[in-house]
Amino acid sequence: MTYETVIGLEVHAHLLTKSKMFCGCSTDYANAPPNTHVCPICLGMPGVLPVINWKAMEYAVMTALALNCTISEFTKFDRKNYPYPDLMKGYQISQYDTPLSRNGWLEIEVDGKRGRINITRVHLEEDVAKLIHRTDPSGESYSLVDVNRSGIPLLEIVSEPDIRSPEEARQYLMKLRSILQYLGVSTRNMEEGSFRCDANVSIRGEDSPRYSAKIEVKNMNSFKAVYRALEYEAERQRKLLEEGGQLVQETRNWVEEKGVTVAQRSKEYAHDYRYFPEPDLPPLVLSPAWVEELSSASPSSPMPGGSGLWPNMACRFTMSISSSALKRLPLTLKAASRFPLQAIGLRKGPRR
Ligand SMILES: [Zn+2]
Repeated sequence: MTYETVIGLEVHAHLLTKSKMFCGCSTDYANAPPNTHVCPICLGMPGVLPVINWKAMEYAVMTALALNCTISEFTKFDRKNYPYPDLMKGYQISQYDTPLSRNGWLEIEVDGKRGRINITRVHLEEDVAKLIHRTDPSGESYSLVDVNRSGIPLLEIVSEPDIRSPEEARQYLMKLRSILQYLGVSTRNMEEGSFRCDANVSIRGEDSPRYSAKIEVKNMNSFKAVYRALEYEAERQRKLLEEGGQLVQETRNWVEEKGVTVAQRSKEYAHDYRYFPEPDLPPLVLSPAWVEELSSASPSSPMPGGSGLWPNMACRFTMSISSSALKRLPLTLKAASRFPLQAIGLRKGPRR
Protein backbone atom coordinates (compact mmCIF):
# COMPACT_ATOMS: atom_id res chain seq x y z
CA MET A 1 0.00 0.00 0.00
CA THR A 2 1.15 3.57 -0.63
CA TYR A 3 1.24 5.76 2.43
CA GLU A 4 1.13 9.52 2.74
CA THR A 5 3.30 11.20 5.38
CA VAL A 6 1.53 13.75 7.59
CA ILE A 7 3.67 16.13 9.63
CA GLY A 8 2.90 18.98 12.02
CA LEU A 9 5.70 21.04 13.57
CA GLU A 10 6.00 22.77 16.93
CA VAL A 11 8.77 25.34 16.94
CA HIS A 12 10.15 27.00 20.06
CA ALA A 13 12.24 30.14 19.57
CA HIS A 14 14.03 32.25 22.19
CA LEU A 15 13.10 35.91 21.93
CA LEU A 16 15.89 38.50 21.83
CA THR A 17 14.87 40.44 24.93
CA LYS A 18 17.47 41.78 27.36
CA SER A 19 15.86 40.16 30.39
CA LYS A 20 13.81 37.06 31.08
CA MET A 21 10.06 36.59 30.60
CA PHE A 22 8.93 37.17 34.18
CA CYS A 23 11.98 38.57 36.04
CA GLY A 24 14.84 41.03 35.52
CA CYS A 25 17.64 38.45 35.04
CA SER A 26 19.78 38.92 31.95
CA THR A 27 19.14 36.60 28.99
CA ASP A 28 22.78 36.92 27.89
CA TYR A 29 23.83 33.65 29.45
CA ALA A 30 25.45 31.74 26.57
CA ASN A 31 29.00 32.16 27.88
CA ALA A 32 28.12 32.74 31.53
CA PRO A 33 29.10 30.27 34.27
CA PRO A 34 26.18 27.97 35.20
CA ASN A 35 23.54 29.28 37.62
CA THR A 36 24.78 32.89 37.61
CA HIS A 37 21.81 34.52 35.80
CA VAL A 38 19.23 33.55 38.38
CA CYS A 39 16.96 35.13 41.00
CA PRO A 40 14.19 33.87 43.32
CA ILE A 41 11.62 34.17 40.48
CA CYS A 42 13.39 32.06 37.85
CA LEU A 43 14.65 29.70 40.57
CA GLY A 44 10.98 29.03 41.35
CA MET A 45 11.10 30.01 45.02
CA PRO A 46 7.74 29.96 46.81
CA GLY A 47 5.94 33.28 47.27
CA VAL A 48 7.60 35.24 44.46
CA LEU A 49 5.56 37.18 41.89
CA PRO A 50 6.25 37.16 38.14
CA VAL A 51 5.93 40.36 36.05
CA ILE A 52 5.31 40.18 32.27
CA ASN A 53 8.18 41.46 30.12
CA TRP A 54 6.30 43.64 27.66
CA LYS A 55 9.10 43.52 25.09
CA ALA A 56 8.43 39.79 24.73
CA MET A 57 4.71 40.52 24.18
CA GLU A 58 5.63 43.01 21.45
CA TYR A 59 7.95 40.55 19.71
CA ALA A 60 5.36 37.79 19.90
CA VAL A 61 2.63 39.95 18.34
CA MET A 62 5.03 41.17 15.60
CA THR A 63 5.83 37.56 14.73
CA ALA A 64 2.18 36.51 14.79
CA LEU A 65 1.29 39.34 12.39
CA ALA A 66 4.13 38.38 10.04
CA LEU A 67 2.69 34.85 10.05
CA ASN A 68 -0.74 36.18 9.06
CA CYS A 69 -2.30 35.25 12.42
CA THR A 70 -5.35 36.80 14.03
CA ILE A 71 -4.42 38.53 17.27
CA SER A 72 -6.68 37.60 20.19
CA GLU A 73 -8.62 40.38 21.87
CA PHE A 74 -8.31 38.56 25.16
CA THR A 75 -5.35 36.48 26.22
CA LYS A 76 -3.97 35.09 29.47
CA PHE A 77 -1.21 32.90 30.86
CA ASP A 78 -1.79 29.44 32.33
CA ARG A 79 0.12 27.00 34.49
CA LYS A 80 1.19 23.79 32.76
CA ASN A 81 1.92 21.34 35.56
CA TYR A 82 4.44 18.53 35.22
CA PRO A 83 7.24 17.22 37.40
CA TYR A 84 10.65 17.21 35.75
CA PRO A 85 14.12 18.14 37.08
CA ASP A 86 14.52 20.99 34.56
CA LEU A 87 11.29 22.66 35.69
CA MET A 88 12.13 24.64 38.81
CA LYS A 89 8.58 25.45 39.98
CA GLY A 90 6.92 22.16 39.03
CA TYR A 91 4.92 24.12 36.45
CA GLN A 92 5.70 26.17 33.38
CA ILE A 93 3.93 29.48 32.71
CA SER A 94 2.49 29.02 29.22
CA GLN A 95 -0.74 29.75 27.34
CA TYR A 96 -3.44 27.11 26.97
CA ASP A 97 -6.93 27.93 25.73
CA THR A 98 -6.48 31.64 24.95
CA PRO A 99 -3.20 31.97 23.02
CA LEU A 100 -2.28 35.47 21.92
CA SER A 101 -2.86 34.56 18.28
CA ARG A 102 -4.35 31.87 16.02
CA ASN A 103 -5.08 30.88 12.43
CA GLY A 104 -2.08 32.08 10.45
CA TRP A 105 -0.20 30.64 7.49
CA LEU A 106 3.18 30.52 5.86
CA GLU A 107 3.84 29.96 2.16
CA ILE A 108 6.63 27.63 1.10
CA GLU A 109 8.01 26.52 -2.23
CA VAL A 110 9.22 22.98 -2.99
CA ASP A 111 10.31 21.91 -6.49
CA GLY A 112 8.83 25.06 -7.96
CA LYS A 113 5.44 24.39 -6.40
CA ARG A 114 4.04 26.86 -3.88
CA GLY A 115 1.96 25.69 -0.98
CA ARG A 116 0.49 27.11 2.18
CA ILE A 117 1.20 25.62 5.62
CA ASN A 118 -1.47 26.73 8.08
CA ILE A 119 -0.42 27.85 11.53
CA THR A 120 -2.67 26.84 14.42
CA ARG A 121 -1.35 29.27 17.01
CA VAL A 122 1.55 31.41 18.18
CA HIS A 123 1.86 31.80 21.94
CA LEU A 124 4.31 32.87 24.63
CA GLU A 125 5.80 30.84 27.45
CA GLU A 126 9.00 30.57 29.49
CA ASP A 127 11.90 28.21 28.85
CA VAL A 128 13.02 25.64 31.43
CA ALA A 129 16.45 24.97 32.94
CA LYS A 130 19.06 22.93 31.11
CA LEU A 131 20.09 19.42 32.18
CA ILE A 132 23.62 18.25 31.42
CA HIS A 133 24.12 14.48 31.60
CA ARG A 134 27.59 13.20 32.52
CA THR A 135 29.35 9.98 33.46
CA ASP A 136 32.07 9.94 36.12
CA PRO A 137 35.31 7.90 35.78
CA SER A 138 33.75 4.96 37.64
CA GLY A 139 31.04 4.76 35.01
CA GLU A 140 28.28 6.17 37.21
CA SER A 141 26.03 8.59 35.39
CA TYR A 142 24.78 11.83 36.92
CA SER A 143 23.01 15.01 35.82
CA LEU A 144 23.77 18.69 36.41
CA VAL A 145 21.19 21.50 36.33
CA ASP A 146 21.94 24.94 34.88
CA VAL A 147 19.11 27.36 35.71
CA ASN A 148 20.44 30.23 33.54
CA ARG A 149 18.03 29.26 30.73
CA SER A 150 15.01 29.01 33.03
CA GLY A 151 12.58 31.86 32.30
CA ILE A 152 13.98 32.91 28.90
CA PRO A 153 11.01 34.13 26.78
CA LEU A 154 9.98 31.37 24.43
CA LEU A 155 7.71 31.73 21.43
CA GLU A 156 5.82 28.58 20.45
CA ILE A 157 4.65 28.35 16.84
CA VAL A 158 2.40 25.37 16.12
CA SER A 159 1.60 24.35 12.55
CA GLU A 160 -1.39 22.37 11.32
CA PRO A 161 -0.55 18.84 10.05
CA ASP A 162 -0.23 20.25 6.53
CA ILE A 163 3.35 19.18 5.83
CA ARG A 164 3.69 16.16 3.55
CA SER A 165 7.44 15.50 3.30
CA PRO A 166 10.74 16.06 5.15
CA GLU A 167 11.69 18.58 2.44
CA GLU A 168 8.52 20.61 3.04
CA ALA A 169 9.34 20.56 6.77
CA ARG A 170 12.83 21.85 6.07
CA GLN A 171 11.56 24.65 3.83
CA TYR A 172 8.95 25.65 6.42
CA LEU A 173 11.59 25.82 9.16
CA MET A 174 14.05 27.78 7.03
CA LYS A 175 11.42 30.31 6.08
CA LEU A 176 10.17 30.64 9.64
CA ARG A 177 13.69 31.14 10.95
CA SER A 178 14.36 33.81 8.35
CA ILE A 179 11.17 35.69 9.26
CA LEU A 180 12.24 35.74 12.92
CA GLN A 181 15.66 36.99 11.81
CA TYR A 182 14.11 39.61 9.53
CA LEU A 183 11.93 40.94 12.34
CA GLY A 184 14.95 40.96 14.67
CA VAL A 185 13.05 39.11 17.39
CA SER A 186 15.03 35.88 17.78
CA THR A 187 18.59 34.54 17.80
CA ARG A 188 17.31 31.55 15.77
CA ASN A 189 20.27 29.26 16.53
CA MET A 190 19.22 25.62 16.27
CA GLU A 191 22.49 24.09 17.47
CA GLU A 192 22.44 26.15 20.69
CA GLY A 193 18.78 25.33 21.25
CA SER A 194 17.51 28.88 20.68
CA PHE A 195 15.36 27.61 17.80
CA ARG A 196 14.01 24.12 18.51
CA CYS A 197 11.60 21.91 16.70
CA ASP A 198 9.43 18.95 17.69
CA ALA A 199 7.50 17.07 15.03
CA ASN A 200 4.24 15.12 15.09
CA VAL A 201 4.53 12.42 12.47
CA SER A 202 1.90 9.99 11.25
CA ILE A 203 1.16 8.16 8.03
CA ARG A 204 -2.07 7.51 6.19
CA GLY A 205 -2.95 4.80 3.68
CA GLU A 206 -3.73 6.21 0.24
CA ASP A 207 -7.45 5.52 0.44
CA SER A 208 -7.81 5.81 4.18
CA PRO A 209 -9.30 8.89 5.81
CA ARG A 210 -7.60 7.92 9.09
CA TYR A 211 -4.10 8.73 10.26
CA SER A 212 -1.95 6.27 12.16
CA ALA A 213 -1.28 7.18 15.80
CA LYS A 214 0.35 10.61 16.24
CA ILE A 215 3.97 10.12 17.20
CA GLU A 216 6.04 13.01 18.48
CA VAL A 217 9.74 13.18 17.58
CA LYS A 218 12.04 15.33 19.72
CA ASN A 219 15.72 16.16 20.09
CA MET A 220 16.49 17.31 16.54
CA ASN A 221 19.26 19.91 16.71
CA SER A 222 19.71 21.00 13.10
CA PHE A 223 17.74 21.31 9.88
CA LYS A 224 19.59 18.25 8.62
CA ALA A 225 18.61 16.32 11.75
CA VAL A 226 14.94 17.27 11.24
CA TYR A 227 15.08 16.02 7.65
CA ARG A 228 16.78 12.73 8.57
CA ALA A 229 14.58 12.10 11.60
CA LEU A 230 11.35 12.67 9.67
CA GLU A 231 12.53 10.47 6.81
CA TYR A 232 13.48 7.70 9.23
CA GLU A 233 10.31 7.94 11.33
CA ALA A 234 7.89 7.86 8.37
CA GLU A 235 9.72 4.82 6.97
CA ARG A 236 9.72 3.08 10.38
CA GLN A 237 5.95 3.58 10.69
CA ARG A 238 5.38 2.28 7.16
CA LYS A 239 7.43 -0.86 7.78
CA LEU A 240 5.74 -1.54 11.11
CA LEU A 241 2.24 -1.30 9.61
CA GLU A 242 3.19 -3.46 6.65
CA GLU A 243 4.50 -6.12 9.01
CA GLY A 244 1.15 -6.11 10.79
CA GLY A 245 2.37 -4.13 13.81
CA GLN A 246 0.44 -1.41 15.65
CA LEU A 247 1.50 2.18 16.22
CA VAL A 248 0.80 3.81 19.57
CA GLN A 249 0.77 7.49 20.53
CA GLU A 250 4.17 8.15 22.06
CA THR A 251 7.15 10.50 22.23
CA ARG A 252 10.35 9.35 20.52
CA ASN A 253 13.85 10.83 20.68
CA TRP A 254 16.05 11.26 17.61
CA VAL A 255 19.49 9.73 18.24
CA GLU A 256 21.77 11.56 15.83
CA GLU A 257 24.77 9.21 16.07
CA LYS A 258 22.71 6.12 15.29
CA GLY A 259 20.31 7.76 12.86
CA VAL A 260 17.24 6.31 14.59
CA THR A 261 14.31 7.37 16.78
CA VAL A 262 13.81 5.54 20.07
CA ALA A 263 10.70 5.39 22.26
CA GLN A 264 10.98 7.73 25.23
CA ARG A 265 7.56 7.77 26.88
CA SER A 266 3.88 7.51 26.09
CA LYS A 267 2.69 10.85 24.73
CA GLU A 268 0.93 13.13 27.18
CA TYR A 269 -2.54 14.51 26.54
CA ALA A 270 -3.53 18.07 27.50
CA HIS A 271 -5.45 16.85 30.55
CA ASP A 272 -2.22 15.30 31.92
CA TYR A 273 -0.90 18.82 32.51
CA ARG A 274 -3.76 20.01 34.75
CA TYR A 275 -3.75 23.46 33.14
CA PHE A 276 -5.29 26.34 35.07
CA PRO A 277 -5.09 30.16 34.74
CA GLU A 278 -1.89 31.63 36.22
CA PRO A 279 -3.21 33.37 39.35
CA ASP A 280 -0.22 35.72 39.71
CA LEU A 281 -0.58 37.40 36.30
CA PRO A 282 -3.45 39.58 35.02
CA PRO A 283 -5.43 38.49 31.97
CA LEU A 284 -4.73 40.84 29.06
CA VAL A 285 -6.82 42.75 26.52
CA LEU A 286 -4.86 43.69 23.42
CA SER A 287 -6.08 46.86 21.76
CA PRO A 288 -6.06 47.26 17.95
CA ALA A 289 -4.33 50.64 18.38
CA TRP A 290 -1.40 48.98 20.15
CA VAL A 291 -1.20 46.23 17.52
CA GLU A 292 -1.28 48.83 14.75
CA GLU A 293 1.50 50.76 16.47
CA LEU A 294 3.59 47.59 16.52
CA SER A 295 2.91 46.77 12.91
CA SER A 296 4.01 50.21 11.76
CA ALA A 297 7.20 49.89 13.84
CA SER A 298 8.03 46.53 12.21
CA PRO A 299 10.58 46.44 9.39
CA SER A 300 8.98 47.38 6.08
CA SER A 301 12.00 47.33 3.76
CA PRO A 302 12.37 44.36 1.38
CA MET A 303 13.82 41.15 2.78
CA PRO A 304 17.61 41.05 2.39
CA GLY A 305 19.18 38.48 0.09
CA GLY A 306 16.52 38.54 -2.58
CA SER A 307 16.48 34.73 -2.80
CA GLY A 308 13.59 32.97 -4.49
CA LEU A 309 12.04 32.36 -1.10
CA TRP A 310 11.44 35.99 -0.43
CA PRO A 311 9.66 37.77 -3.24
CA ASN A 312 7.08 40.22 -1.94
CA MET A 313 7.57 39.17 1.67
CA ALA A 314 7.74 42.77 2.85
CA CYS A 315 4.76 43.62 0.69
CA ARG A 316 2.67 40.72 1.99
CA PHE A 317 3.70 41.60 5.49
CA THR A 318 2.59 45.20 5.37
CA MET A 319 -0.47 44.42 3.29
CA SER A 320 -1.67 41.74 5.64
CA ILE A 321 -1.39 44.14 8.55
CA SER A 322 -2.92 47.18 6.95
CA SER A 323 -5.87 45.39 5.39
CA SER A 324 -6.85 41.89 6.40
CA ALA A 325 -5.13 41.41 9.76
CA LEU A 326 -6.31 44.69 11.23
CA LYS A 327 -9.83 44.20 9.94
CA ARG A 328 -9.91 40.76 11.53
CA LEU A 329 -8.99 42.18 14.93
CA PRO A 330 -12.03 42.09 17.13
CA LEU A 331 -13.23 45.23 18.88
CA THR A 332 -11.68 45.43 22.29
CA LEU A 333 -13.85 48.09 23.89
CA LYS A 334 -16.47 45.61 24.97
CA ALA A 335 -13.88 43.23 26.35
CA ALA A 336 -11.97 46.05 28.02
CA SER A 337 -15.05 47.08 29.92
CA ARG A 338 -15.21 43.58 31.34
CA PHE A 339 -11.56 43.73 32.40
CA PRO A 340 -10.97 47.46 32.84
CA LEU A 341 -7.84 47.21 34.97
CA GLN A 342 -6.11 44.86 32.60
CA ALA A 343 -6.53 47.00 29.50
CA ILE A 344 -3.33 47.81 27.69
CA GLY A 345 -1.86 51.07 28.88
CA LEU A 346 -3.12 50.62 32.43
CA ARG A 347 -1.31 47.46 33.35
CA LYS A 348 1.51 47.14 30.83
CA GLY A 349 4.61 45.52 32.32
CA PRO A 350 8.17 46.79 31.82
CA ARG A 351 9.75 46.59 28.34
CA ARG A 352 13.20 45.12 28.85
ZN1 LIG B 1 15.45 35.63 37.40
